[in-house]
Amino acid sequence: MSFRTGWSPDAPTVIRRIGSYYYVRHHGHEYACRLRARLKKEKVHVAIGDRVRLDEVDDVHRSAWIVDVEPRFNLLPRPTLANVDQVVIVMAADAPPFSPQTLDRFLVLAAQSGIEAVVCINKRDRVSAERLHEMIAPYEGAGYPVVTTTAKGGEVSELWRVLNNRVSVLAGPSGVGKSSLLNALQPGLALKANEVSEKLGRGRHTTTFASLYVLQGPDGEALVGDTPGYSHMDFGALPPTELGWLFPEMKPHIPHCRFPDCLHREEPDCAVKTHAAMPPERYASYLRFLEEVLATEKRLSDTSLKVEETVKRKSAGGGVEKKLVKLGVVARTDSRRVAKQKLAGISVEDLASESEDDWHEDDEEFLEP
Ligand code: GDP
Ligand code: ZN
Repeated sequence: MSFRTGWSPDAPTVIRRIGSYYYVRHHGHEYACRLRARLKKEKVHVAIGDRVRLDEVDDVHRSAWIVDVEPRFNLLPRPTLANVDQVVIVMAADAPPFSPQTLDRFLVLAAQSGIEAVVCINKRDRVSAERLHEMIAPYEGAGYPVVTTTAKGGEVSELWRVLNNRVSVLAGPSGVGKSSLLNALQPGLALKANEVSEKLGRGRHTTTFASLYVLQGPDGEALVGDTPGYSHMDFGALPPTELGWLFPEMKPHIPHCRFPDCLHREEPDCAVKTHAAMPPERYASYLRFLEEVLATEKRLSDTSLKVEETVKRKSAGGGVEKKLVKLGVVARTDSRRVAKQKLAGISVEDLASESEDDWHEDDEEFLEP
């Protein structure tokens, strides 16, 4: 398994925000920090997960000023988390029954946001070793790191190894054992996470921000973030020709297809169909997802056609212009917003400007930590 070596306990990292206080993990301690006026004036956006530069570090009161924010290598939306090394996709070997297609969907969503994915099959106590091997073989074959766990029995050492010294988020359907895993890794952690978000949710004027939780392991620390909300679980405005690139088994073959816009279905001289050693379930997932992105593409192009028609009618003149134009604008804004939110490779700038309002909306408020 090869990983980007992610987070180091020496890099001051924002792990929580309450009001105008940013809690920064630094040399194994938490510092309550505030932003220098210059950063506020420049509307510098500090996200949970950001590596920051500190000044006037007070080791007695554990406080400091944030004077700068290091460039981030990614930014996940909902909840907003910066510098996430990996998403650990948790699936149950059974109960709920193992669904390759759901796993594939999470993997493609992770690839779409440019985040490395690790597969974690939990509840391995519920299936035979043979069945477990059958389940994970296609994913190991595709090159994903795969770990197996039994949260209930506290067998989480494989997972600990992939989390150690990295910033991770756990994702996956409900009931697969995500909270149980967190509890097995560090008793009380999942509970604490729930308590904190409940507490924050109750304060009327308090915006709830994502948090990173610190896990203490035998040979290091790991930061684990709140579960990302892949609420719709769809691929948004992903161009159909891009989908294949999100399947590691297909990627190396795509440049050798005869047609540059090959969708790897029925096309002649398709290198993917001829050469990619892809298990049938994975290819079936691809075809299923392809139908979805083709349908979305069609829907979006229908919407923009309508916008164009409206605009044309407007320029031709007439009494009902105003209403038509308004409708057109609404349709366009909507489809653009949807596309922007869900587009693959969404730029960091986009996300930052999109969440700018959230971030500054409670700047006026002052909440004592
Ligand atoms: P979450 O919704 O993903 O957070 O899942 P939970 O952690 O709430 O777990 C759902 C159910 O699965 C609970 O009843 C757990 O006791 C059970 N469970 C979790 N991990 C395991 C495991 O490794 N083996 C078995 N047999 N059951 C587990
Ligand atoms: Zn092809």
